[in-house]
Amino acid sequence: MYDAIIIGAGPAGLTAGIYLARANKKVLILESETIGGQIASSPLVENYPGIAKISGAEFASNLYEQITDLGAEIDIAKVIKIDSDKIKKVFTETDVYETKSIIIATGVRHNRLGLPNEEALIGKGVHFCATCDGAFYKDSLVAVVGGANTAVTNAIFLSDICQKVYIIYRKNSLRCESVLKDKLSSIDNIEILYDTTIKKLIGKEELEEVEIDSNGTSKTLPIKGVFLAIGMEANSTISDSSFELTLDNYYIAHDTKTKIEGIYIAGDCRDKEIRQLTTATSDGTLAAMNALKYLKNFEE
Ligand SMILES: Cc1cc2nc3c(=O)[nH]c(=O)nc-3n(C[C@H](O)[C@H](O)[C@H](O)COP(=O)(O)OP(=O)(O)OC[C@H]3O[C@@H](n4cnc5c(N)ncnc54)[C@H](O)[C@@H]3O)c2cc1C
Repeated sequence: MYDAIIIGAGPAGLTAGIYLARANKKVLILESETIGGQIASSPLVENYPGIAKISGAEFASNLYEQITDLGAEIDIAKVIKIDSDKIKKVFTETDVYETKSIIIATGVRHNRLGLPNEEALIGKGVHFCATCDGAFYKDSLVAVVGGANTAVTNAIFLSDICQKVYIIYRKNSLRCESVLKDKLSSIDNIEILYDTTIKKLIGKEELEEVEIDSNGTSKTLPIKGVFLAIGMEANSTISDSSFELTLDNYYIAHDTKTKIEGIYIAGDCRDKEIRQLTTATSDGTLAAMNALKYLKNFEE
């Protein structure tokens, strides 16, 4: 039996694993897709304290090395459900594991436009986080796709860095708060393209141009960075009837604790304001510390 099973090998799950493995606990981490989670697709991370510049892939591989050197096990498998009795069970499509505690660190999935080469251009012109990646487009033309608060906040942020920012929105009026609309009207280098959609992302190694459809007319713009702000979904399908979820399906877990003893939530899938590497690793630490306290009582 494991002391802890961690679901999701993103920065939150791997940080939790480091703390638990260093405390000599028997740890299994189950990951359905990519070790490192979202950050593995980032070309450059410049906001993690103590590391001035690192690629997302190297950050992820360093975490992997650190956690495996400490003796934690990692398997590629999608968790489909859990049982939350005192001896807990974690079910993948092929196996069932027993554990004393569980940390759910399943992150989020950003909505996509659904264009053919979009996945290949993620991190190379297609982005989800203006605060993380905006600085790569100093003095360039960029676009934010979407018309709600996140899109407009991102556009305002980018307008300080980039030459020009287009807001590309498929409807004919923005859905953001009026205070943001007021702010927008005072910024000269933001142009809003209403009734407009992106038809093509042009570029192989990186984004070179964008073909748009504006009220039925096609046009190509030399946009080098597209920031998608068309929503994201928490990966929160692993559930117990006593788990609390927000209306948009984020796990509610104050200080990472759920209502079930021995089950914790960490990282972007948890209801919170800021979703960044630092907040994910902070959650991972907290969840592991809570699990260690629980394991101490479990063993007594
Ligand atoms: C392109 C990009 C660039 C970014 N750049 C920066 C940056 O420069 N600085 C910064 O601070 N932040 C950045 N971020 C945000 C940062 O990556 C996230 O905040 C962070 O990765 C969240 O970590 P997490 O562990 O909570 O979730 P995630 O990274 O989302 O990891 C969750 C993991 O759980 C796995 N999973 C989900 N469901 C299951 C299941 N049922 N079974 C098993 N595994 C499952 C997923 O496959 C995923 O690997 C960026 C994000 C993206 C997408």
